[in-house]
Amino acid sequence: MKILVINAGSSSLKYQLIDMADESVAAKGLCERIGIAGSVLTHKVPGKDDYVVEAPMPTHKEAIELVLNALMDAEHGVVKSTDEISAVGHRVLHGGPEITESCVLDEHAKEIIRKYFPLGPLHNPANLMGIEACEQAMPGKINVAVFDTTFGMGMEPYAYLYGIDPKYYDKYGVRRYGFHGTSHLFVSGETIKFGKLPEGKQKVIVCHLGNGSSISASVGGVCQDTSMGLTPLEGLIMGTRSGDIDASVVQFLSKHENLSVDEVLNILNKKSGVAALSGVSSDFRDLQAAAQDGNERAALALKAFCYRVIKYIGAYAAAMDGVDAITFTGGIGENDLGVRREVLSHLNYLGIKLDEEKFGTRGKRVEISAPDSKVRVFIIPTNEELAIARETVRVGLS
Ligand code: AMP
Repeated sequence: MKILVINAGSSSLKYQLIDMADESVAAKGLCERIGIAGSVLTHKVPGKDDYVVEAPMPTHKEAIELVLNALMDAEHGVVKSTDEISAVGHRVLHGGPEITESCVLDEHAKEIIRKYFPLGPLHNPANLMGIEACEQAMPGKINVAVFDTTFGMGMEPYAYLYGIDPKYYDKYGVRRYGFHGTSHLFVSGETIKFGKLPEGKQKVIVCHLGNGSSISASVGGVCQDTSMGLTPLEGLIMGTRSGDIDASVVQFLSKHENLSVDEVLNILNKKSGVAALSGVSSDFRDLQAAAQDGNERAALALKAFCYRVIKYIGAYAAAMDGVDAITFTGGIGENDLGVRREVLSHLNYLGIKLDEEKFGTRGKRVEISAPDSKVRVFIIPTNEELAIARETVRVGLS
């Protein structure tokens, strides 16, 4: 059984065809510059040279048609016809407060994606374009939406409500949703499986540390809390996002810098985080190199980033009344040994002991805690496409 996974952005479309027999990637690729001159499709099949197609893609419809042609191409293809694709799974950013689960796409589900355009103004419209393009190109095929927000729907009202009048939740859905949900769902589930965590010992903290970073607390795979909020701005300090901030900063900067609220929000989302703190880069490889060379602002940015991760771990251990496992994932979580060391060296109070031989493992599944550690520590690479494919089978085909 093969599942096509689609992640449609406003001018790009990523795809993977996953063979569910062994959960391997049969082919994957990227359409770039959709709706812009110079559109290009790069199609990759393991063990073969990349297949690059330069062709006009005025809309996502043409992009999907090119993707299907590449998947069925005599030389570069991996299927003979679209009949071999059992279903299509779509990454969708925001399901609002109504969607608590992945779902088969019908008119009602699409209406909800449309209804919450205001909560995901950049992503939801693009996600819907990808869905409608697939419906047109493969009529009758099952399409499933997997929402970035569904994991956070496991939170109880005391965790997801802001300390403001609930009428704003009732009227507009203003609450904490959390993002990177597919990653947190996958990594918390894989931590339980890989670590063989017994029932009753499944309090897991997942640190998804990448260009965007978030952290979650889950019990038995159900989200208890997660650090992003109404939008991905809340929580950890990120590549270019500020993370948690006193809302009054918005008014203060607006007044003193003569900026609109939208302009301040643009600064908080795109011109803040470790990039702004360091003045060097949002990329942790650059930050580590600069800090090594004695750049004090880069060192400060790294310290501030880790400090907030440490604080959230402490908060989530308290919120769950204990923690059984902490898992690192994402580009930084899987690879950056400096961040890993700094964070873990502040968790002695949890009784963590490390296996120094395994500590330096990068980019693959490993337990890095020692057998007598009170809390187990794992590195588990995230795989959001596989999580979407599994959800597509679970919801659409069973
Ligand atoms: P992601 O958004 O999950 O792709 O993560 C991107 C971040 O991971 C960037 O800040 C990269 O610098 C960081 N990253 C990726 N590989 C490494 C590595 N080998 N060492 C340190 N940081 C890395």
